[in-house]
Amino acid sequence: MTPVTTFFQNLEAKCCTQCGNAMTEQAESYLNECIPCQEKQFSEYLAYAKKR
Ligand SMILES: [Zn+2]
Repeated sequence: MTPVTTFFQNLEAKCCTQCGNAMTEQAESYLNECIPCQEKQFSEYLAYAKKR
């Protein structure tokens, strides 16, 4: 069995699918985009929703 700590150390640094920045915070481990890109997308969505 691989110790859990070794398992996580061997994981590749995840990169944002939008800007390519490495995402190192654990809170973002389940996301594909970094916080700034998420906020940008959200603001774009709001702008799009307002136009309708
Ligand atoms: Zn990003």
